[in-house]
Amino acid sequence: MPASVDDTVATRLANVRRSMAEAAIREHRDPSSITLVAVSKTFTADEITPALVAGQRVFGENRVQEAKGKWPALRERFPDIELHLIGPLQTNKAREAVALFEVIHTIDRPRIAEVIAAEMARPGARQPRLLVQVNTGEETQKAGIAPAEAAEFVAWCRAALHLAIVGLMCIPPVEEEPSVHFAFLAELGREIEVPWLSMGMSADYAAAIAQGATHVRVGSAIFGRRG
Ligand SMILES: *Cc1c(COP(=O)(O)O)cnc(C)c1O
Repeated sequence: MPASVDDTVATRLANVRRSMAEAAIREHRDPSSITLVAVSKTFTADEITPALVAGQRVFGENRVQEAKGKWPALRERFPDIELHLIGPLQTNKAREAVALFEVIHTIDRPRIAEVIAAEMARPGARQPRLLVQVNTGEETQKAGIAPAEAAEFVAWCRAALHLAIVGLMCIPPVEEEPSVHFAFLAELGREIEVPWLSMGMSADYAAAIAQGATHVRVGSAIFGRRG
């Protein structure tokens, strides 16, 4: 991408917002019903600041440790930030994750659900909203609950752990048509009765909006290529 005066985070953010609104309107959806999660992983506080100055408040990070290093200071300047964890979660990071994130997209196995529930039950704990990640492509190397187990897992999280699961998240396999996966996740979401669908990244967020995404996770289209 050639560097030009206009090639700034603020410009790219505005472009993404405009194409999101266009995609919503094509589907007769209200653009305000779709949240842009600006994925700032690998970018520094200085690189993220232009997006904050341009009014973006919802951000996604994939590592607890990295988020802990840069967001507390940014929050002091911009207290209304909403931080989303979109990467795999380990049990030994659960306490920090609950303390740091408003939304966790990656509940994907009984053990992590139990540990998160225990952390949220501690006095004064933050109550992040939770989504279940579904491995729609059934890829062995990818996180997420198997599609066939997703409904039962969500029911168990609700009944046994009293966790209010608000949505589903997926990352389609790279070589496959993403719309098929988005449509599948949307169908599952209707079945399980969750209001949120976290799906769509820089390359395919318009397709995800066409299939009902309520949260798109967009990184490189806003911040540029990751180093
Ligand atoms: C990095 C990441 C994104 C953003 O990807 P881009 O292609 O840069 O938009 C979205 N979701 C998850 C889970 C990610 O790890």
